[in-house]
Amino acid sequence: MTSEVSDLVATAREGRPRAVARLISMVENGSPGLREITALLCADRPHRARIIGLTGPPGVGKSTSTGMLVHAFRRRGMRVGVLAVDPSSPFTGGALLGDRVRMQDHATDPDVFIRSMASRGHLGGLAWATPQALRVLEAAGCEVVLVETVGVGQAEVDVASLADTTVVLLAPGMGDGVQVAKAGILEVADVFVVNKADREGTQAAIRELRNMIALADRPWRPPVVPTVALRGEGAEEVVAALDGHLAYLEGSGELVRRRQARARNEIEAIALTTLRSRFADLHGDRRLDVLAARVLDAELDPYTAADELLAAAGRPG
Ligand code: GDP
Repeated sequence: MTSEVSDLVATAREGRPRAVARLISMVENGSPGLREITALLCADRPHRARIIGLTGPPGVGKSTSTGMLVHAFRRRGMRVGVLAVDPSSPFTGGALLGDRVRMQDHATDPDVFIRSMASRGHLGGLAWATPQALRVLEAAGCEVVLVETVGVGQAEVDVASLADTTVVLLAPGMGDGVQVAKAGILEVADVFVVNKADREGTQAAIRELRNMIALADRPWRPPVVPTVALRGEGAEEVVAALDGHLAYLEGSGELVRRRQARARNEIEAIALTTLRSRFADLHGDRRLDVLAARVLDAELDPYTAADELLAAAGRPG
């Protein structure tokens, strides 16, 4: 197992798509080799990828915009990764390249890695699997990774906790203001993109957003960038806004804080997942029955019994 895994990691580091895809599948499936893979990936980290989250309601143009941004970063000569995370998607696995119709432009580009990932059914969900998949893409030499999620409630918060910069996409006529206020995305957005700017109501949507931003008490004021992703219009302006935010993150020390928060979330997710699976193991264990009998006989109070159980679950098996 060990040499097989280290060969796989070495091959992924060379940027071979098949090895990258295989490692991400192992992450997604919670493979038993994961611990070792993660240790190998952490041991030698030549650089850190810039992580950009994209979120917004279905149909707003996230995939189209992701494709547009891939082009923009490729024009800068950067190697790009895309992780499309859909918490509700029943679809798992998938090929690394061109597994989404709108990404087929990039299917033959060796410097673009695209992968869909479904996290439903995972004990630790998004918080558990995504950072590890990001690490695989980073090892493959991606300098920037775009993480695309469907904007439905929790997903925005999840993507915001993963990304260095979170882009929230809206479109005119989608009830923008209400949407922003309701979902609380104003707090997580670092850059707003008003896509479908070829449609009526764009200026009104931009105005409304800017008014709302002006009222929010945040040290960083998210810029609002109009785009027509379908025609690639506004790509450079979005990249400039992303660069502006990165400069702010670096200058304010916020980049380190965000990355530290990310590491904290990851550790917590791994710990909770581990604990949960150990508890699941304990269910079939005599130990719980013995404790239950002692509580029933008033020999032990349930708090002390729970302490004993926690102590047992906390010990590596
Ligand atoms: P997602 O569900 O957020 O990923 O949205 P998609 O990228 O799949 O786009 C949804 C629909 O909007 C597709 O039919 C796109 O062709 C269309 N679309 C994307 N960008 C634009 C745009 O700038 N203007 C217009 N009019 N349509 C767009």
